[in-house]
Amino acid sequence: MGAARLTIDLDAICANWRALDALSDNEVETAAVVKADAYGIGATRVAKALVEAGARSFFVALVEEGIAVRGMLGTQPDIYVFAGHMAGKSDALVSARLIPLLNAPDQMSRHVENTPSHPFGVQLDTGMNRLGFEPSEWNDCKGELLESAPLLVMSHLACADEPDHPMNALQLDAFRGMTDGIPARRSLAATGGILLGPKYHFDLTRPGVGLYGGQPFGEARPTVHLDVPVIQTRTVQPGETVGYGNTWTATSPTRVATISAGYADGLLRAAAPGAVVFAGNTPCPVVGRISMDLITVDVSGLHEVPGSLQVIGRNSSVDAFAEAAGTIGYEVLTSLGARYERVYLPQ
Ligand SMILES: *Cc1c(COP(=O)(O)O)cnc(C)c1O
Repeated sequence: MGAARLTIDLDAICANWRALDALSDNEVETAAVVKADAYGIGATRVAKALVEAGARSFFVALVEEGIAVRGMLGTQPDIYVFAGHMAGKSDALVSARLIPLLNAPDQMSRHVENTPSHPFGVQLDTGMNRLGFEPSEWNDCKGELLESAPLLVMSHLACADEPDHPMNALQLDAFRGMTDGIPARRSLAATGGILLGPKYHFDLTRPGVGLYGGQPFGEARPTVHLDVPVIQTRTVQPGETVGYGNTWTATSPTRVATISAGYADGLLRAAAPGAVVFAGNTPCPVVGRISMDLITVDVSGLHEVPGSLQVIGRNSSVDAFAEAAGTIGYEVLTSLGARYERVYLPQ
């Protein structure tokens, strides 16, 4: 047995997309965000499955990502690029029919000069101060932009994963103030925004993490299962230590299994101590530090040590592993390693 196996359940991803779609009215389109290789899961596989499930619009961060998705999907679906129209990308945008989300006056000028008849969208800043036209810039450019009929006018919420955060209503007001009455489709909600309710949905929603089984979409089906082979087991006697830095000391005879994945595979070093892996339904705590290629686990609770232990799966969500590492499920997903044997279901 060699590399750890990452099983990706495309049916679960499609089920999550349908469940998120069902949270908004029929006339609201549910798109899919497949940036960063679909959060580490595999953008082309995911996009193809979602097209079959009925998705018609996709979002990526970069032109290069859009080209890869276009290659898999053919000409039909809309593919939007969050980074907008960057210098040197005009030809690529046109040849892959990617829709840049223009985010500042200089991008607008570039678009008008280089690709005047190419479709585009507009990204507005409603307070996050990350990407998008500032309100004053939008005021100056709105006439010209709207005259060219943008396919979408969007903004992004900074605190949507906290439903009671006052920032949500502030951004909703700002977005409405900037866009009420315009003759263009509008979008504000990612996964968190969908859960905030219909006021946030507008014409199109843009879920990412919820498709892949991560919080804040609590009802999501898990989509990734990571099974890591056991290389060796041993009994550690009281007073003996395990791993780099001697950070864990046995207080009673402890059966320790060493499994073949580590922080080089995205299993963040910060997750120990705290992370728990599973043998079936039995939890087995990680002991000692996580190494580059190896993790040591207390398997004393098992009658028989199986050939592999599950690090992420039904009992151990990406968010649980993330919490042990002091981070979020998004970071665990996008860190999933290149060394895994990847199996996509259904095949
Ligand atoms: C990443 C991203 C999304 C998707 O967000 P999730 O929280 O993963 O649903 C939507 N819109 C923008 C602008 C993004 O950057």
